[in-house]
Amino acid sequence: MPELPEVETIARQLQQVLPGRKIKSVQVLREKSFVGESEILVGRKIRRVTRKAKMVAVELDREDLVLLIHLKMTGQLIFQDKGRRVVGGHPTEDWVNSLPSKHTRVIIGFTDGPASPAGRSKLFFNDMRVFGWIKIATSDEWLATGRTLPPDVIDPEFTVGYLKGVLKRSTRPVKLVLLDQAKIGGLGNIYVNDALYLTQTKPTRKANSLKPAEIKRLHQTCVQVIKRGIEAGGASENTYKHINGLGGQYQEEFLVYKREGQRCGLNGCDGVIKKIKVGGRGTYFCSRHQR
Ligand SMILES: [Zn+2]
Repeated sequence: MPELPEVETIARQLQQVLPGRKIKSVQVLREKSFVGESEILVGRKIRRVTRKAKMVAVELDREDLVLLIHLKMTGQLIFQDKGRRVVGGHPTEDWVNSLPSKHTRVIIGFTDGPASPAGRSKLFFNDMRVFGWIKIATSDEWLATGRTLPPDVIDPEFTVGYLKGVLKRSTRPVKLVLLDQAKIGGLGNIYVNDALYLTQTKPTRKANSLKPAEIKRLHQTCVQVIKRGIEAGGASENTYKHINGLGGQYQEEFLVYKREGQRCGLNGCDGVIKKIKVGGRGTYFCSRHQR
């Protein structure tokens, strides 16, 4: 599942290529994947592409509307302009194969300016399992959504004090609290495993048992691992290993994720990485240095 760094990465890349483009057509190939009246978009110009939580927000020249995209489990966005492609989200062969593919659910075509009346560049929304969606929202709806969402881990509102408040109110395992998207936006499983590993925190520890100094380190480390993920272009853990190199590079830097049975090695630690399930999610930790 694409996590915050992957969504941030594709949003940044689309911000490089979409603003100023005018929508010529919207083809909805799978109704479930598109919410709203697609015709409203025709003739609209794209102003800006941003991200909030795991949603990509495409702002239009009609300020009362915004196009929201959620990739969920297997969504991907591919912008194609002549020979060039910008790809993001779930990595599959569709990143490199010809499009549309059997997983293409929506195609947004652009006019590419008055000089070329024929639509040329396109944005493909592919989604193998059809959990993702594109939705036309009013800007009021979008603002209201923003108010109900917790701060993202890289937002300035995500402070040590905020994290402390969240942890103090819970006796659940600290890992589950960090993963709770209603409390903190954008900390996915891979990154939480790594942050707990680096801060020597056992994933099953009760959230309210962390001491102030531990919370401070945890806060700092959560921000760091996400920022490192964004710098690497996100992680693309996937079943399509042969397209390695196309995805983000973070998977080459996983510190503890998927390393069960291996020697820990962090600062010379002789512990062994164990795998357990916490709240149904794969949890990896060093039985020696994480307490
Ligand atoms: Zn260790």
